[in-house]
Amino acid sequence: MKNKSNLNWSTILFLGGYHLLLAILLPVYLIYYTPSATLLVLSFVLLYTTGLSITAGYHRLFSHSTYKTNKFIEVIYLFFGSMATQGSALRWSHDHRIHHAHIDKDEDPYTVKRGFWHAHMFWLLKNQKPIKEKIISDLVRDPVLNFQHKHYDILMVITNAIGTLFIGWVTNDYFGALVFGWLLRQFLLHHFTWFINSLAHYWGHQNYSTEHSAVDNYIISLLTFGEGYHNYHHTFAYDYRNGIRWYHFDPTKWLIWTLSKFRLAKDLKKVNHARIAEQMIKEHKRALLEKLTETFSEKREDLEQKVSYFTENLIEKLSKLNTLVAQYKAYKKSRVKTDHIKELLNEIALLKKSLKSEWRAWKEFSKFIMTLEPLPA
Ligand SMILES: [Zn+2]
Ligand SMILES: [Zn+2]
Repeated sequence: MKNKSNLNWSTILFLGGYHLLLAILLPVYLIYYTPSATLLVLSFVLLYTTGLSITAGYHRLFSHSTYKTNKFIEVIYLFFGSMATQGSALRWSHDHRIHHAHIDKDEDPYTVKRGFWHAHMFWLLKNQKPIKEKIISDLVRDPVLNFQHKHYDILMVITNAIGTLFIGWVTNDYFGALVFGWLLRQFLLHHFTWFINSLAHYWGHQNYSTEHSAVDNYIISLLTFGEGYHNYHHTFAYDYRNGIRWYHFDPTKWLIWTLSKFRLAKDLKKVNHARIAEQMIKEHKRALLEKLTETFSEKREDLEQKVSYFTENLIEKLSKLNTLVAQYKAYKKSRVKTDHIKELLNEIALLKKSLKSEWRAWKEFSKFIMTLEPLPA
């Protein structure tokens, strides 16, 4: 008989069942016992290990190929990825690539346009569409990924049993391991990861693009292992970083960077500063012109021209700087000693200086426009 409602009852029962079990067993545990520090620390470590396997493994490696690694690290990602209970890496990457390609459209499996809860978890409760091999053609022939995909259900059970029993054995508290090491850890990990599809498309700033619903939000990055800079990520999905500044909380980026220092990761893809700045300027220009249409200032045309002049000038200078830096790097690599290198360095220094002062003027001018009051009708 055809399932008309299209509901995935095994997922509904699993998710509903463990949420209910947690709601019962957590208070029971806390009434009769006190969790030891070791139990809490180990459960937290497992939360982070499983979370990073999703973000550094499933997401930034398998879904987006933002860097390369070896089979050993891949197997670790798949082991803890199975424990994360979010499906196989093949299925996850397949759905995620569709999310990026068709963001905010009907094809997007977890589009926020169907509401916060659909994007957060309700999409999981429906039967999923079959995997289209061409979407993951680069992954589908990998024997390790195929093994995990084929045996995902049993691997999920075994890895979770290993994690829980290990914590129980170390702490000699198997009940605590069940409640904190599995149920609570699973609950937090699921909702934290689901926040990337819901909150990170809902609550924050669009610094790089308004062409999609993704937003940047520092608080979300604290809960999502660094995936809260989602506006940047949807604009530059091939960058191994999500938080591009040193002070951005992005433990996934730090993990990949550390792996590269131990030669366990290579070819880390990064968007250069000039390209990022250019995108920000273009986006900001759009916001300024939008603001000007709201203010009905009599000087509107002049101001619009000034916005265009500023942006074009900045973008031109940034692209020139990019070319000069590339030339300098090429000279340095070829190790040819020439006076031209000195000239190049001088030119780069001068250009940077002029860019800095223009950037400051642009910021002042932007502030002026953004504080303009609409004229009375
Ligand atoms: Zn997204
Ligand atoms: Zn992504």
